[in-house]
Amino acid sequence: MHHFHYKDGEMYCEDVPVRTIAEAVGTPFYLYAHATLVQHFNAFDGAFEGTRHLTCFSMKSNSNLSVLKLFAGLGGGVDIVSGGELFRALRAGVEPKKIVYSGVGKRDEDLRFALASDILMFNVESSQELMRINDIAGSMNRMAGIAIRVNPDVDPKTHPYISTGLRENKFGIDIREAPEQYAVAAGLKNIEVLGVSCHIGSQLTEVGPFVDAVAKLMELVEELAGAGIPVKFLDLGGGLGITYDREEPPHPREYGGAIKEMVSPSNLTLVFEPGRVIVGNAGILVTEVLYTKSTPEKNFVVVDAAMNDLIRPSLYNSFHAIQPVRKTGREKLEADIVGPICESGDFLAKDREIDALEPGELLAVMSAGAYGFSMSSTYNSRPRAAEVMVRGDRFHVIRKRETFEDLVRGEEFPDFLLNG
Ligand SMILES: *Cc1c(COP(=O)(O)O)cnc(C)c1O
Repeated sequence: MHHFHYKDGEMYCEDVPVRTIAEAVGTPFYLYAHATLVQHFNAFDGAFEGTRHLTCFSMKSNSNLSVLKLFAGLGGGVDIVSGGELFRALRAGVEPKKIVYSGVGKRDEDLRFALASDILMFNVESSQELMRINDIAGSMNRMAGIAIRVNPDVDPKTHPYISTGLRENKFGIDIREAPEQYAVAAGLKNIEVLGVSCHIGSQLTEVGPFVDAVAKLMELVEELAGAGIPVKFLDLGGGLGITYDREEPPHPREYGGAIKEMVSPSNLTLVFEPGRVIVGNAGILVTEVLYTKSTPEKNFVVVDAAMNDLIRPSLYNSFHAIQPVRKTGREKLEADIVGPICESGDFLAKDREIDALEPGELLAVMSAGAYGFSMSSTYNSRPRAAEVMVRGDRFHVIRKRETFEDLVRGEEFPDFLLNG
């Protein structure tokens, strides 16, 4: 499935044995299938064929330059949440007029950078931010295109850490206060009101919450038109879920079908900010077994990837399937798959049924393409993993493994430690 498959018991990514790559680049490493990335981008984008739309890949899910360049080449834009992401997007060749900027805490210098880069629009998340953008745009003699990110108060029925469209969440402006904020925005000299936006959460496995949000947003769009504030864009954010285990999320086609109908009478251009649904199942994390050990309580498999490489299990208690790179047919046992980090929260899987393993064998942590490398850190002074992309029978290291020198880059001793 998803261009990660077995041939004679050996896992391949497209036409390359995963083991071959491990031997060349070492472990752990992230591995992305070019064919899956293309297929998933096109499946999402194609679900809205016939409707004016822009697919802005949510690059916080995977911000590797090559991944961004690939999507830009397919006509995609990006959703950014920081100046650093804008820098990456421009470096990868994303068209500025296909960039939308979300986030509750946009800093002045990042706003200036985005205005100077002439991005499509800012998804504004507070009245103070609106004023700040107007001021900065004014000082630069520019117009800032904006949408107000409204909080529609719908329950996405997902993990609390990744639900964002409930009244108690920090994101956006309460939809009941939105008309007033739009009236303010419309009166600001350096603001051009372009759209209405929302993003209700991540890893949604039903269409219902999206439909509820769109219904509420369409009402707002009509109310604004009535008040003389027409908008061009309706940005529905991201959030479509994927299968990690047994989830059965809707296909983008179903999502598209439900949404297109609701907006078709209008002249709106739809904007989407999908992340996980495009890259999640296009990547795996490959790791080597270091040791196995058993206590009276449990079996442990200690691997060379850890929570610094993939934090989702520790942070959200997320499930990632773990598969052997070479099937052995050995007896199964139940074990915790854990990393070398000095935290009990450092695990990739708990109480997992898995073929018995020997040191030196390789495991693939599946569905790791989204919020994998992009959330990684160097905790425990572990250099960040390499990233590799396969296309057909070729593979390329798209980000080198960090070195020890990379770990200390920028650190300096103060005088009082050198001379005292
Ligand atoms: C995280 C995020 C997304 C992407 O969410 P996915 O669940 O990965 O599709 C889109 N828009 C905004 C504003 C986000 O914060």
